[in-house]
Amino acid sequence: MTVPAETNLVARLLDAGVDAIRVNADMLSDLDRAIGDGDHGVNMLRGFSAIAEGREALTALPLASALEAMGTLLVMNVGGASGPLYGSFLLAMGRAAATAGGTAPLGKLLEEGVAAVKKRGRSERGEKTMLDVLVPVQLAWEQACTDGLQVRDAIERVKQAAKEGLESTRPLQATKGRASYLRERSIGHLDPGAFSSCLLVHAVCDAFLESTKP
Ligand code: ADP
Ligand code: MG
Repeated sequence: MTVPAETNLVARLLDAGVDAIRVNADMLSDLDRAIGDGDHGVNMLRGFSAIAEGREALTALPLASALEAMGTLLVMNVGGASGPLYGSFLLAMGRAAATAGGTAPLGKLLEEGVAAVKKRGRSERGEKTMLDVLVPVQLAWEQACTDGLQVRDAIERVKQAAKEGLESTRPLQATKGRASYLRERSIGHLDPGAFSSCLLVHAVCDAFLESTKP
């Protein structure tokens, strides 16, 4: 499956992401208050507000450039660890899209995005971070493509993988980021970055499904 490049789609996905963060920012900060410093919602809101402000320019760009520009905005505007990590994710996806002249399969973009987060964070799945959502999402998409699923079914699998990935963070002890300072006291809480990843994955998936309705 290749990535459709209509700018209209970029606008829909962008709006969905911005809305998801605006609506849930307080909850994300509450989660971060339990095992971090309580700023995850504020950080994400700052980054996504910058994206919202750049909406007109961003949606006029081809997908690859739009992803790169959004990544740069997150790196520049988010104070916490999550900004450079989400920024790296989008920058790598954008670069992957650009090298293939706009015909790269979405799976390739996700693979590059996840690899960039791992490299930047020096982290892996299982450490109670956003990677506990992003890795299963990438794998679910890859498997859905291998299984030859229709787009709608593939997207449902991806959403389910995101939910399960988020839930998988609860029993984990954090070994990366601020939550790792709490050691075993980080156990029993959802990871805020995994939560924002799940929210964003669901928002983007739903917006995509909406855009493919006949
Ligand atoms: P900060 O921790 O600097 O306050 P945020 O609160 O905005 O930044 O983001 C915290 C989230 O960032 C965590 O919940 C986790 O998901 C993610 N995170 C932190 N460090 C890493 C890392 N090394 N690798 C992957 N994700 C990380
Ligand atoms: Mg924080």
